Amino acid sequence: MNRRNFLKSMLSLPLGVAGCQYMPHEGFFNDCPDKRLPASLANHDLVKAVWEDIDTSQVWDCHCHLIGVGDSTSGIWVNPKMQSFLHPIQLAQFKFYLNASCARSSNKETIDEGVVQRLRDLHEDLPRGFRFMLLAFDFYFDADGVINREHSPFHTPNAYAQRMAAEFPGQFEWIASIHPYREDAIAALEEAVNHRARAIKWLPSVMGINPGDARCDAFYEALAKHNLPLLTHVGDEHAVDTPTGQTYNNPLLFRRALDHGVRVIFAHCATLGESVDIDKGKHGAKVPNLDLFARLMAEPRYENLALGEIAAITQVNRDRWKVEKIIETDEWHDRLLYGSDYPLPGVMPVFSPLNFVDWDMLPANTADILSEVRRYNPILFDVMLKRLITVKGKRLKGSVFETRRHFVKSPSIPL
Ligand SMILES: [Zn+2]
Repeated sequence: MNRRNFLKSMLSLPLGVAGCQYMPHEGFFNDCPDKRLPASLANHDLVKAVWEDIDTSQVWDCHCHLIGVGDSTSGIWVNPKMQSFLHPIQLAQFKFYLNASCARSSNKETIDEGVVQRLRDLHEDLPRGFRFMLLAFDFYFDADGVINREHSPFHTPNAYAQRMAAEFPGQFEWIASIHPYREDAIAALEEAVNHRARAIKWLPSVMGINPGDARCDAFYEALAKHNLPLLTHVGDEHAVDTPTGQTYNNPLLFRRALDHGVRVIFAHCATLGESVDIDKGKHGAKVPNLDLFARLMAEPRYENLALGEIAAITQVNRDRWKVEKIIETDEWHDRLLYGSDYPLPGVMPVFSPLNFVDWDMLPANTADILSEVRRYNPILFDVMLKRLITVKGKRLKGSVFETRRHFVKSPSIPL
């Protein structure tokens, strides 16, 4: 088994791969060094070069999961399945996420507080102006608008994300998560807007949302009215269990939102999996989700509405042609947004800078520096990797990282 196939299998299997001969280049677990980035790395030319041509006061990481276990006043709820040995896949995933968050290595009493403290510590090594946009996460709701905890992997309340953003204003912004089938969906949206939520986050398959359903229309109208973007997962989702399969993650279902005038930020540029080409009817062929995303990006009527987001596109389960397409299509770049999908950059086996060396996108000595940086600061690593990979002399434009303009109505809003 080669490195790439091994690492791909890690994303869908529990730790039963122990018999495999290959060890991930950077190990299985994050050793969470309790230190700032060493000066030799902080002052390294490559680290400095990454921020050149970028106005760092505009860099908002728009995809930062606010995880925890609910051992504080956060109100976070985790499905017991995620923590049970009877469900080894979910348990392994949960352990990896917690390890990546380094919550236990902080001096905080609870894991929830440790997660936040670790983010604040990572922030110390990021340039002035950088902010994390913390994601709340709503429950799975049945079609009749009733919460279904059995199908919900976890819940991070809006109130908690909002409170963290208010408590640490130079470091965090927040993104609300509201299921559109909720009876109080519009009221919850108004409340989120009043508390400076910068967007709404959905994960359709995991939350039980059909984005092409008329039940979403009132919510789309309210989003358009407030000019609030919808950050939504599109493409296959294997990070958490998906009771309704991948059908709802079809990018084409979001025509309905776009046609309502909603700005839709397509997470990951839909870089995983295939969906039915429903533009050609329900028996249409299966087409890579990235191509369906590309189709929406190419339609002039969506030019000011359809946006892409680059979280996770450099993980080991992304195909080479997809990474190449995103970097080479520079007419997209002004409509792409930086997101890290934290804590995933800290899940050691899911990234391998060496893959990009194999693909001639990165020099070998750069990969070594990236691996060193990653030990101390997975967010800085994630920015660096995305900024440094090149395809036929092209790389992502600096404006991809200057995401703030997409979330504030006026660029003069004080920092
Ligand atoms: Zn995510």
